[in-house]
Amino acid sequence: MRRIRRVKIIATLGPASTDRAVVAALYQAGADVFRINMSHADHDGMRARIAMIRSIEEELGRPIGILVDLQGPKLRIGKFAEGKAIVETGDRIALDSDPAPGDRARVHLPHPEILGALRPGHTVLIDDGRVRLRIVEAKPQRALAEVVVGGLLSDRKGVSLPDTTIPVSAMTPKDRADLEAALPEGVDWIALSFVQRPEDVLEVKRIADGRARILAKIEKPQAIECLDEIIDAADALMVARGDLGVEMPIEQVPGLQKRITRKARRLGKPVVVATQMLESMVVAPVPTRAEVSDVATAVFEGADAVMLSAESAAGQFPVEAVAMMSRIGDEVEQDSVYRSIIDAQRGRASVSTFNEADAIAVAARDIAEQMECKSICAWTSSGSTAFVIARERPMAPILALTPYRETARRLALVWGVHPIVTKDASDVDDMVRRAAKWSNREEFSKEGDRIIVIAGVPFGSPGATNMLRIAHTGPEV
Ligand code: PEP
Repeated sequence: MRRIRRVKIIATLGPASTDRAVVAALYQAGADVFRINMSHADHDGMRARIAMIRSIEEELGRPIGILVDLQGPKLRIGKFAEGKAIVETGDRIALDSDPAPGDRARVHLPHPEILGALRPGHTVLIDDGRVRLRIVEAKPQRALAEVVVGGLLSDRKGVSLPDTTIPVSAMTPKDRADLEAALPEGVDWIALSFVQRPEDVLEVKRIADGRARILAKIEKPQAIECLDEIIDAADALMVARGDLGVEMPIEQVPGLQKRITRKARRLGKPVVVATQMLESMVVAPVPTRAEVSDVATAVFEGADAVMLSAESAAGQFPVEAVAMMSRIGDEVEQDSVYRSIIDAQRGRASVSTFNEADAIAVAARDIAEQMECKSICAWTSSGSTAFVIARERPMAPILALTPYRETARRLALVWGVHPIVTKDASDVDDMVRRAAKWSNREEFSKEGDRIIVIAGVPFGSPGATNMLRIAHTGPEV
């Protein structure tokens, strides 16, 4: 089963996509990777979803990626004596360590480490920024705040702290337990929420120990400040626009999305654009014009993947939303201005790190274009060769041939890569002959077409990409 679309689609699973038939339909409509959001799933639910996806994968014979998204530290205020309280702009309210029910003058903040980190001048946002406070006095047990934007406060509403570096790891005990439960199930990507520093990513990487790749969700201003280091530490990034638009002025999100996408592309790491892409399709069968334009912007910008959250997890039209996203991707990629926009942001390894694999990838793209090669077939064990070729955003489709199912599944997230699981090649002739066979079988080329074959010789040594062959497909090779 072949897809022409280069940009990948991530569909979040939830109550609207519990049935096997719906999940299979989501895949058929265009989903390449399924996301399990641990904010809403328990371990048994996660295992059941993974088993279902793997059985669909088996049935359809195509590698499917699974992304488990860890919840991260969700900060919340405590409860109110009356369940709620209204605070007016200009009022003062204390956030304190007293678990007693609150009122309009004070409320419990059940996170001692946050109380200790707040400083006068810091902003505290409650309920997705609907109520805005500014700290005027900060003590370890009690912070007094002025209400900058008033409104309704109610029990256990979420708290965002754009100015405060949270002095704890991005992983909570729940995240650790979720991670330990997910890794043995053979998930492909782990998304880490509320990353603030590269160490957060490295900690999860240490625990995953190669069993899954790590995607850093960029949703805090602190992460923007050390973006290069986080990109370096992570295997992929997500522009998590939901929380990013609370933690930072919402009007800055489009610019940040472009900066993060461009940086990730330049550094050769996959990047996902997420949240509210087709939000109105939660309740309507067609999206708004603005939403279509939003998805198109991410595709034009060369994002590796676009993501659906509530649309596929809890909406009334999950399959229609995936199909719509797929149609937008297809259409944008055929647009006459697409190539020039994509090429303007073409990534390239820096001179100091430019290696054989980079050189081969650049050459593959240029040769494919000059000689109208129908596909670039890369033999890869870890997937790294396919990542490097994808960074070039070639016009020709990338076939990643790998003996490892795990590698193929991870590559389901990467721009333009069509992963194939096949046994390793025995020698160079075998490598060229079988690449050509796969390219034809998957209908990327036909007999007599030119293709490019890339590999590392000797075989099976990860990261040793050093060989490029221009071949003609056909029975004779
Ligand atoms: C986001 O904030 O945009 C996001 C993807 O994270 P979550 O859905 O876990 O809040």
